[in-house]
Amino acid sequence: MIDFELTSNDKKLLDAVRTEALVARQYARHYDEHEHEFPPDELPEAKDFPNVWSLFAGRTADDTSMGVISLLMTMGQTWGDYSVRMRRGKGGLGNAALRAAGTPEQQAKWNDLTLAMAITEPGCGSDSAGVQCTAVLDGDEWVVNGEKIFVTTGCRADGVVVWATIDKSAGRAGIKSFLIEKGTPGFVVAHKEKKLGIRADDTAAYVFQNCRIPRGNLLGLDESIPRQGSGGFRGVMKTFNMTRPGVAAIGLGMAEAALDFTREQLEKAGARIEYGPGIHGQSAAAQKFLRLEGQFEAAKLTTLHAAWLGDNRQPNNDEASICKAKAGAAVREITQGCIELLGPLGISREHLLEKWFRDVRITDIYEGTGQIQRLILARSLLGYTSKELK
Ligand SMILES: Cc1cc2nc3c(=O)[nH]c(=O)nc-3n(C[C@H](O)[C@H](O)[C@H](O)COP(=O)(O)OP(=O)(O)OC[C@H]3O[C@@H](n4cnc5c(N)ncnc54)[C@H](O)[C@@H]3O)c2cc1C
Repeated sequence: MIDFELTSNDKKLLDAVRTEALVARQYARHYDEHEHEFPPDELPEAKDFPNVWSLFAGRTADDTSMGVISLLMTMGQTWGDYSVRMRRGKGGLGNAALRAAGTPEQQAKWNDLTLAMAITEPGCGSDSAGVQCTAVLDGDEWVVNGEKIFVTTGCRADGVVVWATIDKSAGRAGIKSFLIEKGTPGFVVAHKEKKLGIRADDTAAYVFQNCRIPRGNLLGLDESIPRQGSGGFRGVMKTFNMTRPGVAAIGLGMAEAALDFTREQLEKAGARIEYGPGIHGQSAAAQKFLRLEGQFEAAKLTTLHAAWLGDNRQPNNDEASICKAKAGAAVREITQGCIELLGPLGISREHLLEKWFRDVRITDIYEGTGQIQRLILARSLLGYTSKELK
């Protein structure tokens, strides 16, 4: 039976996350306005706080609430500010790919590094099968050439998992992932991206020019090109089943912050929000607010459900896409609705609501847009292949 009841230890852990998140919130505006500055690993006001992720690290892999709790922790962090997510933590999206598709030797060698993941190119995003970056085997080395854009953690990462084709004529089946360390000749961080939101996140563009890497840096070491299906491509795509609920949780934390701020301001202005009698008969503002809260609860439940399935070793491919599609749309509607409810307060830079409105937008873009999640679901539910339903 699905059960999201928290133990008293979990509650303490989540309280500790929120206490630290509130400290980070004091810095939110600064890192929004100073886009390419990195938040420090330690904020002075939080230096004596326990590291919440180390409190969490005591849990074992057979703990059947680990995924759910880690999503609630993510929500608690971004409820404070998105930038807090970058602090005190190693690892990036490339580490999730390494766990999903790397050999045990590759995992042992690379997992202590922070790895970004570079798929998107100037001419290829949603249709990741259109990757133009190439990797050509030359003796015992791969020679990588191409450009990648919008790489999260692009500057801070120690290395990257890069998607490149070893045979363009093979389409999706020719795409493989390669591990490339920073400092490898021919690998250049070309520039930092400038963005509407999540401006504290470090996002970069890469260029690979005759970048030579050992043959053993092919993730999973499978050099074959299957005639049917998508082979190794499918292995790294598994990464996203693991990480999409986390993206939903990032957006939900900020949407919850927006709801809390809006409730507080409405109450200050004398608008009563009542939970007992239902929405009819309440003020228009209260009705709208309660509908937004309903969106939040629905999106949160789909997200926790996806994590719960993963925790209990059940397939969650569809649920990972459902929660990301649902949360991506809900957090936009919620933050925009909060701005509508508060008017000038909503767009004033004296408060963070306008920032949350900008920051949540990413939830529906990276790791597959909302449209792409719906496409994945349609294929799965109706039994179409990616060639049949594009
Ligand atoms: C801040 C940020 C961080 C990012 N981090 C990373 C990262 O770490 N690594 C990485 O590789 N990429 C990253 N990205 C890139 C991101 O994954 C892509 O922007 C995203 O996949 C969309 O690709 P695109 O920008 O090329 O848009 P396009 O694919 O050109 O899509 C444009 C629009 O068309 C829609 N669309 C496209 N195809 C279809 C279809 N078949 N049916 C219906 N609608 C469709 C899309 O949903 C979108 O609305 C990041 C982007 C941002 C903004």
